[in-house]
Amino acid sequence: EIMQGSSPREEKIFVSVRLRPLNQKEISRNDVSDWECIDDNTIIYRNNLSVSERSMYPAAYTFDRVFRCDCSTRQVYEEGAKKVALSVVSGINASVFAYGQTSSGKTFTMSGITEYSMADIYSYIEKHKEREFLLKFSAIEIYNESVRDLLSTDSTPLRFLDDPERGTIVEKLTEETLKDWSHFRELLSVCEAQRQLGETCLNEASSRSHQILRLTIESSAREFLGNDNSSTLAATVNFVDLAGSERASQSLSAGARLKEGCHIIAGRNGHIPFRDSKLTRILQSSLGGNARTSIICTMSPARSHVEQTRNTLLFASCAK
Ligand code: ADP
Ligand code: MG
Repeated sequence: EIMQGSSPREEKIFVSVRLRPLNQKEISRNDVSDWECIDDNTIIYRNNLSVSERSMYPAAYTFDRVFRCDCSTRQVYEEGAKKVALSVVSGINASVFAYGQTSSGKTFTMSGITEYSMADIYSYIEKHKEREFLLKFSAIEIYNESVRDLLSTDSTPLRFLDDPERGTIVEKLTEETLKDWSHFRELLSVCEAQRQLGETCLNEASSRSHQILRLTIESSAREFLGNDNSSTLAATVNFVDLAGSERASQSLSAGARLKEGCHIIAGRNGHIPFRDSKLTRILQSSLGGNARTSIICTMSPARSHVEQTRNTLLFASCAK
């Protein structure tokens, strides 16, 4: 059974790290991994560090959870994201982020997590016939401060509107009411096609864009017991596949980036580890307050990526 309600002292940010296996390309160039997960919370760097490096970088990093390279996405979901994502059915806003350098496994991880979450949400609904649920789905891509609707073939950038009740909203964004699971799958393939089309047009890799899949759930008791509104719940869950973190480190000094990163994850003022104010504004309404956040930092094991990987781990440490 999934979590119901929330206690104010409950952790609101869950930070985990996922190490992927070395890939064929890395193996064939004789790249090696120096990272080792020594338990469920600790990852260490084994390569001999020089004395000056040792003072700069910790040799061991601890997180809420560390997923070894042989962990399945199912396991990452169950232990790193499920609780956060499914809080949406209880009326609690939630966001799940994948953060990491390009090719570290963000999309691989996030697409699995989105799918498992949706399947669990549907099975929750199936078991709770006493309530009526309304699911709305939208999909956004942010590239260079330009916001695109991934459910529409119209690629005109979208504008923001400040709505007194709902906060910042994206004007003309398609919001599909989900009929069932197969409708959701259909919309996912529309997104994927739109995303690929965009890449071709811009001649740019997805490493530079953020993707947000957003599900809003409203529910109310079927039996109306008196006229109190407390029986109606509404919340949003965001599945965020961030742009490659190497981009963030290019545009921001490491220090500033880490500081901003801490805020977004804390969800206190809606800052995010990128300079895109558009991403900040889109997420603002569903961060903060009682919102739940899970950040999964994906990392390459390759020695050739060690600098970026350390940046990712420093970011993740700071986000805790
Ligand atoms: P990113 O979105 O961070 O750029 P991807 O998710 O596209 O990275 O992953 C890059 C490649 O590595 C893909 O071919 C993906 O299938 C593969 N990959 C990523 N993570 C894993 C993993 N944990 N296990 C196996 N293959 C993975
Ligand atoms: Mg990707």
